[in-house]
Amino acid sequence: MENWLTKRARLSPQRCAVRAGSYSLTFAQLQQQVLQQAGRIASLQANGRIAVLTDNSLPGYLTILALQQLGVAPVLLNSRLSVDELGQQLRDAAVTLCLAADKLVRPLPIKVISFSQLAQQTVVTVSPAAEFVPTATASIMFTSGTSGHAKAVLQTYDNHFYSAIGSALNLGLAAADAWLCCVPLFHISGLSIMLRGLIYGMTVVLVDHFDAKVINHLLCTQPITTISVVPYMLQKLLRDLPADQHYQAAFRCMLLGGGPIDRATLTECQQRQIPVIQSYGMTETASQIVALDFANAARKLGSVGQPLFPVQVKIAADQHILVKTPTLAAGYLNQPTAFSQQLHDGWFDTDDIGYLDDEGFLFVQGRSGDMINSGGENIFPGEIETVYQQHPAIKQIIVAGRADTTWGSVPLAYIQLNAPVSAAELRAYGREHLAHYKVPRAFYLVTDFPRTGNGKLKRRALTPAVGELIK
Ligand code: ATP
Ligand code: MG
Repeated sequence: MENWLTKRARLSPQRCAVRAGSYSLTFAQLQQQVLQQAGRIASLQANGRIAVLTDNSLPGYLTILALQQLGVAPVLLNSRLSVDELGQQLRDAAVTLCLAADKLVRPLPIKVISFSQLAQQTVVTVSPAAEFVPTATASIMFTSGTSGHAKAVLQTYDNHFYSAIGSALNLGLAAADAWLCCVPLFHISGLSIMLRGLIYGMTVVLVDHFDAKVINHLLCTQPITTISVVPYMLQKLLRDLPADQHYQAAFRCMLLGGGPIDRATLTECQQRQIPVIQSYGMTETASQIVALDFANAARKLGSVGQPLFPVQVKIAADQHILVKTPTLAAGYLNQPTAFSQQLHDGWFDTDDIGYLDDEGFLFVQGRSGDMINSGGENIFPGEIETVYQQHPAIKQIIVAGRADTTWGSVPLAYIQLNAPVSAAELRAYGREHLAHYKVPRAFYLVTDFPRTGNGKLKRRALTPAVGELIK
């Protein structure tokens, strides 16, 4: 297929490609600046794999696109990781050079060049490839590491293309669309917005980091049509938005994904007329592969929707969600067997558990590794959490299993409170609303929940040692 940047700059040169603060670029300007950045990178004469360590800033945006113009698949690094974690990922991906935003420069075990150092380089003239090879790797990105060791995923141009098309066929596309990107470019949620920008000819409003006040202000005052959020962002936006304030009339979609969301939040969004579209996907599927549509959003609250065109989803005998999709990555870098073990006849085992209702809508119940098997019964932490979240004394509750010699495993609860409450009261509340074996064996008060670099809950890191037993 034709090089996306070349094609887009020819099709709609004057349209706004990206806005970052008061700065904005048309597609013609974007192409020119990306090729300039590519020329500077080329002057480094780097051999081997190149990583990018960036926030959602314009130089980072240009650098990722510039590497693709040079035929190099950028390794995208999570800026919130520690030096040790980054070192591990750089070794895993055999990276030889890291291009980094100035404020993120850190002592890494390989050569690091900051964006301002890069800006000093002479610009070598580059002639970008006329075509993007559909099966070539477009980006290398790490999974969140929620279930353990993060894996480096090889995402192809085809993956990103099908992902963009599947999303547009679901959400629709209009010339005036502007997608706010406050999710990180180093995760598929952010990178996919950037690539959709090129494919759709759509404006990307790039925001450096998530601040609920700033985002709400933008959505209330600017003609932004779409925003991608993860659950904690949605909750913060809701809490921050005064009851008498509304998003601009142009706003049509709050695309929610990345993790489970509670019903209460979705209901509140409905009441406040915030058009939330739930979605489900993973780094390995180059973003969402299942999503709700506007017509069913209210009717199917709690579902993540139907497989996008032309994705297929089925449920295995062990309740694992299996997917077959043209957006499925080429594999894990340097771990071919880890990937092929999850792949059977073209169906990828997501390791998530769920079910399809009689109309084919998918409900995600959780990760298989988080499921608690107690005395032969399967318990999903989310089910217990939903019930307890209604208790007025509970601010937040997370349930995780603990090995038990009699039952195999039992649920334990880790909570933050709004008001004091006794274990006896919590137990009685559980018995009223849940089967006996689902009532947590013990309740622990915690100050914080362990999270991954991008704010995902690390349920498996919760142990009684992190909390104080509620009596
Ligand atoms: P790792 O693979 O390293 O353990 P991860 O699975 O969290 O990390 P991502 O690719 O960022 O890495 O996340 C994808 C996962 O997030 C999905 O497999 C699923 O478990 C969860 N997820 C995504 N969307 C939803 C959703 N709408 N509801 C519930 N879970 C979701
Ligand atoms: Mg995963």
